[in-house]
Amino acid sequence: MIANTDTAPHTIGRARFEGRRRQLTVASVEYLTPKMLRLVFTSPDLADFESQGADDHVKIFVPGDGGEPVMRDYTPRAFDRAAQKLTLDFAIHEAGPATAWALAGKPGDQVEIGGPRGSRLVPDDFDWYLLIADETGLPAIGRRLEELRPGVPVITVVTVETKAEIQAIETRAAWAAHWVCRDKAGPDDAAALLKVLEGLTLPKGDGYIWIAAEASVTKALKAHALGRLNHPAPWMRAGGYWLQGAAGAREALD
Ligand SMILES: Cc1cc2nc3c(=O)[nH]c(=O)nc-3n(C[C@H](O)[C@H](O)[C@H](O)COP(=O)(O)OP(=O)(O)OC[C@H]3O[C@@H](n4cnc5c(N)ncnc54)[C@H](O)[C@@H]3O)c2cc1C
Repeated sequence: MIANTDTAPHTIGRARFEGRRRQLTVASVEYLTPKMLRLVFTSPDLADFESQGADDHVKIFVPGDGGEPVMRDYTPRAFDRAAQKLTLDFAIHEAGPATAWALAGKPGDQVEIGGPRGSRLVPDDFDWYLLIADETGLPAIGRRLEELRPGVPVITVVTVETKAEIQAIETRAAWAAHWVCRDKAGPDDAAALLKVLEGLTLPKGDGYIWIAAEASVTKALKAHALGRLNHPAPWMRAGGYWLQGAAGAREALD
């Protein structure tokens, strides 16, 4: 018998959209935690905005050091079509044009975005989910936690600078949260995350693993998932969301 791959379990789909540019206006600016800044944008251009995947991204165009526009990737943390509102959460770090722009942001400011050009549609049919990230992946984790079905086991392992960065996120899933406070270690140090991973007992059945952090950290975590955990590569997505010492850098997501 030939399997019908359209209905095979755990099939990860793709949606593609016209990645057109949109002009947005800042509606509100609010600190979620001392180092996580939430900007809500509004615009009639959002009438046909599409974001179907928890780890989608838009490109935001902000002035670079020389004044010329540069683009940076941010996750649509929430989108309300009826209200024409898009929410982006900015993890505040030491320096960078997107961070500087968000820090200076105030209601009425204008900005251009592009995308998302597509969404990766992870079915809500896995037996469990393991989501690992630093602050830059927390918006996508928050969104997935809110979207997943009631009672499904979700383990999150998130590294944050201090306890003050821990977020309360509403979810119907059975969420086991591991927050790793870095203390003196840098956000490019994978050791603390790996230690938590090594101590985890994963639920039985088929799982989906999602990783987003500094590129070298992601690489180490991915190697652990594929090697030590022997996790199937198709049921995993790992992305370098930024690269230590390199502006505007990212690695392709697997
Ligand atoms: C698909 C995708 C989705 C993303 N979603 C989000 C999101 O929703 N929220 C979010 O905050 N970030 C998100 N990021 C990460 C964000 O795009 C990067 O952190 C980006 O580099 C920030 O731009 P910048 O202009 O502030 O700094 P850049 O000009 O890019 O970098 C300046 C310097 O800061 C360093 N740096 C960059 N990011 C960090 C950091 N987080 N911590 C410490 N040092 C850093 C760089 O290594 C460089 O030395 C996402 C990335 C990807 C690929």
